[in-house]
Amino acid sequence: MDQYGAPRNRSEISYARWVLECAGCATEFAHSDIHDDGYSPLDPFTLTSTKPEFPKDGLSVLCPNCKNTFVYQRYQLLYREL
Ligand SMILES: [Zn+2]
Repeated sequence: MDQYGAPRNRSEISYARWVLECAGCATEFAHSDIHDDGYSPLDPFTLTSTKPEFPKDGLSVLCPNCKNTFVYQRYQLLYREL
């Protein structure tokens, strides 16, 4: 067993995430983590990582709080530092 073979903790390299605000209960929940690995392209206006792509008609996301599914647009993604 290789003592250096332990998997890295993913949370150690995560500094921020994209969140959505539920259209039903207004709870913020995570859409995706942003891993600042030095290679992610930055948005020239906000200097944050570029937003993930959304389908043209929006993305259906289940709220983990109220369990309702709403359709979100890309502009509704919010950047949150951890
Ligand atoms: Zn909700």
